[in-house]
Amino acid sequence: MGAVQIVSTVIAAAITAVAVYYVVKAVQQMTKVIKMGQPDPTRSNDRGTRTITMLRETLGHTKMLKWTVVGAAHWFVMMGFILLSSLVLQAYFEVVDPHAGLPLLDGWVVFGFVTEWLTILGIAAILALIVIRLTNLPTKKRWSRFAGSTQWQGYFVEYIILAVLILGLIIRALSVATKHFDYPVWATPLSHALGAVMPANSTAITIVALIKICVSMIWAIVIGMNVTMGVAWHRFLAFPNIFFKRNADGAPALGALKPMMSGGKPIDLEEADPDKDTFGVSKVEDFSWKGLLDFSTCTECGRCQSQCPAWNTGKPLSPKLVVLSLRDHAYAKLQGATDSKLPSIGTTGSPVALAAAEAERPLVGTAAENAVIDYDALWSCTTCGACVEQCPVDIEHVDHIVDMRRYQVMIESSFPAEAGAMLRNLENKGNPWGAPPNTREDWTKGLEFPVPRVGEAEDFEYLFWVGCAGAFEDKAKKTTRAVATLLNEAGVSFAILGNNETCTGDPARRIGNEFVYQMLAQQNVETLKESGALKIVATCPHCFNTIGNEYKELGLDIEVVHHTELLAHLVKTGKLTPVKPIEGGLTYHDPCYLGRHNRVFTPPREVLNQAAQGGITEMGRREERSFCCGAGGARMYMEETIGKRINVERTEEALATGAKTIAVGCPFCSTMLFDAKTSKGAEDVEVIDVASVLLRSIKA
Ligand code: SF4
Ligand code: SF4
Repeated sequence: MGAVQIVSTVIAAAITAVAVYYVVKAVQQMTKVIKMGQPDPTRSNDRGTRTITMLRETLGHTKMLKWTVVGAAHWFVMMGFILLSSLVLQAYFEVVDPHAGLPLLDGWVVFGFVTEWLTILGIAAILALIVIRLTNLPTKKRWSRFAGSTQWQGYFVEYIILAVLILGLIIRALSVATKHFDYPVWATPLSHALGAVMPANSTAITIVALIKICVSMIWAIVIGMNVTMGVAWHRFLAFPNIFFKRNADGAPALGALKPMMSGGKPIDLEEADPDKDTFGVSKVEDFSWKGLLDFSTCTECGRCQSQCPAWNTGKPLSPKLVVLSLRDHAYAKLQGATDSKLPSIGTTGSPVALAAAEAERPLVGTAAENAVIDYDALWSCTTCGACVEQCPVDIEHVDHIVDMRRYQVMIESSFPAEAGAMLRNLENKGNPWGAPPNTREDWTKGLEFPVPRVGEAEDFEYLFWVGCAGAFEDKAKKTTRAVATLLNEAGVSFAILGNNETCTGDPARRIGNEFVYQMLAQQNVETLKESGALKIVATCPHCFNTIGNEYKELGLDIEVVHHTELLAHLVKTGKLTPVKPIEGGLTYHDPCYLGRHNRVFTPPREVLNQAAQGGITEMGRREERSFCCGAGGARMYMEETIGKRINVERTEEALATGAKTIAVGCPFCSTMLFDAKTSKGAEDVEVIDVASVLLRSIKA
């Protein structure tokens, strides 16, 4: 071994030892912080399915590929990172002996071929990602998904990967030039082409291999010193974070909310002990360990932010910034409590002092209070689920936001004042508007057929769950009557609960009032069990979601369909036949709680494509990427005073299609879009439910 090799070996060993030290410390820190979260025993069931889900989402990139170009580029970078790690390992052999190869793999043509093409495609892919980042900088685009991301970390990771790939290519070319490269030209064409112009210098291989090791270890040292550098750590954390996601089968954390937990168990508020149980999240360590793992895993990609209706209309909420704020706060507060000797880059003072300062900050509050999460940000969320849908590492934003709301509402009584009336009305009258409960059946007046109540009907196939909007709100009542008429026309037997129905509790639950939710839900579960119903049809996606997904926790397991699903079935089976298509063009708005939360995308479209002339003129943002109307998460009952109104943003998109009919499948979307189109002066445009569209087509 020559002098160059000896010196290179010593340097490589020294920098590797430093890197290993920092990475091991970082892993210990991270593990300690994550373990400070609350227990959650629901995350480790069905390990076989979880493993398949994890492999499908990581190796198959099923979520990343929803953004095709970025997803494909990221796949090559990820595979390059995994497989080309072997070439970093090879560099350790090369600093000792420039012509040494990896045991077992060296000279195997498949290895040469795969690493060659992963290098080429990896370089192309990382360049594509760099260009995408540069063309989407917050300085260039106001609503950039990278706004608020730690830019230097993104650049650092991207340029390190690019450097490692290029250095690997140079080593291969030098090996060709020195005639120590055993792979054929067809398998490794670029290495051979570059080798033709490289000097035959073996010492150069050692030096480049050393540079490659140093670059790789600098990356390891920097990420080891920055435990919150999600853009790098997600390469490792994404695997457990996806494995432990809420739904083992891979479904996103949408539909039902995570139950309110204390000590790892769902809380039954009738039996809760205020001295022992926690109600929601008041401090960062009240999140479960999975919550803390979520925050640690965020890649800062900003996909969630790019889809968030609140962020896109100028509200102070970005799901990414919520996650990053919680992450930085958690590590600043908890890291100092676990180790006083390892300050992170970018922080000043000792970890202990930093932890003490962080512990003083309220989790939710105002900027003047130096709160971690801004009060207005917390209340801007519509729980639309667009963030959860898009997150490539399966972070569960909605559950975290609602957990923080729970504490604010139930313990602090702190929430937008105007929502107080809604909560009082739910408690006193069983509906959000405070309408007299004995007027729930008024919508049936004037119908040309009798609408039987449960108990009166001999036998019925569907219990028609009308919902509060469907019973009390004028526009929604038209939908209720249209659905009843269509079911009657199709010969479907149904019955209603009438005055025995009460709110499902959805707005109370989404605002964070688990007391009121559980009170209403338990009452409804009892009523539904007594009704003997086997199937329920609901017109409101919020009722559909709550009864179908959330009442299971209370012991009600019953088939629930949305009316658009039932109508699509009736059209398909010839029980209802549209005869005259609706003219003037029609577009369809996917309600969040029907589409994204419950994956009902096709049935309303099947009905509308039959009932509208020329079918649907789709909006750009639709199905999984549909844009919220602004009413979810109990936002329907709060003022919207910050930024542009969400319903206006969505309605402008609908009006831009030129369609004269905006079809919806939710009474709240209907109100929001109607109000917005009225404010835009679009008098010739109608906002109506899918059922009303079908009824018109049939009656015509
Ligand atoms: S649920 Fe919707 S509104 Fe709330 S943070 Fe996510 S994307 Fe934004
Ligand atoms: S929360 Fe998910 S989607 Fe949002 S920035 Fe982090 S990794 Fe990306």
